[in-house]
Amino acid sequence: MSGAAERTVDPRMADADLRAWLTEMDAVALERLYAAADAARSATVGPEVHLRGLIEVSNTCARACSYCGISVHNKAVQRYRMGREEILDCARRAKDLGYGTVVMQAGEDPLLSGEFIAGIIRAIKRDIGGLAVTLSLGERSEDDLRLWRAAGADRYLLRFESSNPRLYARIHPAAHGHPPVDPGAAEVPRVGMLRRLQELGFQAGTGVMVGIPGQTWDDLVSDLRTFQRLDIEMIGVGPYIPHPATPLAHDFDGAAEHGQQVPNTVLTALKMVALARLLVPDANIPATTAVATLDKNNGREDALKAGANVVMPNLTPIKYRALYEIYPDKACVNETAEQCHSCLAARIHSVGRCIGTGFGEAPKSHRRSA
Ligand code: SAH
Repeated sequence: MSGAAERTVDPRMADADLRAWLTEMDAVALERLYAAADAARSATVGPEVHLRGLIEVSNTCARACSYCGISVHNKAVQRYRMGREEILDCARRAKDLGYGTVVMQAGEDPLLSGEFIAGIIRAIKRDIGGLAVTLSLGERSEDDLRLWRAAGADRYLLRFESSNPRLYARIHPAAHGHPPVDPGAAEVPRVGMLRRLQELGFQAGTGVMVGIPGQTWDDLVSDLRTFQRLDIEMIGVGPYIPHPATPLAHDFDGAAEHGQQVPNTVLTALKMVALARLLVPDANIPATTAVATLDKNNGREDALKAGANVVMPNLTPIKYRALYEIYPDKACVNETAEQCHSCLAARIHSVGRCIGTGFGEAPKSHRRSA
């Protein structure tokens, strides 16, 4: 295998090169990787960093995902579901702060009915206007997805979390109408749903956690190839952060199975951000909250310098903020929308970038609809 100095940063790089970059620990070599990703980012999506206002509309969830702090496993967390007017107030706040997009995210909450969400989408489009609407409400029925698209939703975020069906099946047990996942399947179910979302006309976003117990470097190479194959519009990568009220936090078996455990670090996430940018150059790539949580000083900035071009300031009302505890000690939990906004704006400017205007669509979405 070639040494780091000769190793390619060409977007057509081979699996062996991807694996070598993922395991690279030499800081000088990694600077070359980040610089290449930053140049690709500059050439494709430019200097603008787009702000997506995040509204965590419900922490109620019927699923049993073994990594997630708001799954059914957590009996201690108080559950909430925002009302229509509360959600619309947040969307108005997004407009006032100059954001081009609101993201409604939640646990998989059956009481967030298709019609309830559709009504909110219509009200945002009709009464507020000028906002792209992104949904991140888990694996919902075809009927709901069609209804929401017809109501005017533009995008859907659904991380496939891991493209390895065996690992995916282990962390996504059957629950609430979702049958057990076949660990021997050719691809994970969420990849099929992402394709369906694209067929329905949504711009689709996905992503993975890095450092899940049992996850190997080859799994990450396969995740990167899956982003490429889907030609996906948005790619979010964050470190897996154990939550004590979840089964996965107490499961070390996976890691023992292989001598290949990926560490759940900012470093691994940054390498993934850079490689995702090189392989899918015109995607939108966020500097994620999970990266900021593990490195509160520099996480966002480092991701922005390694290929990222999006951040997601939190608009959730303070009284609910801490309850959306997908992992502990989440960044931005105690900030008001205004504080979160000015903190992120300062970080964006500190790395020589500017705040984007408009919907901030990935260039590829124009290609797709052309
Ligand atoms: N119910 C929606 C939204 C889930 S929360 C859905 O399933 O798509 C959004 C993302 O948070 C998840 O996709 C997952 O990648 C991330 N996440 C959840 N638990 C996490 C943890 N313990 N550490 C790091 N990221 C986590």
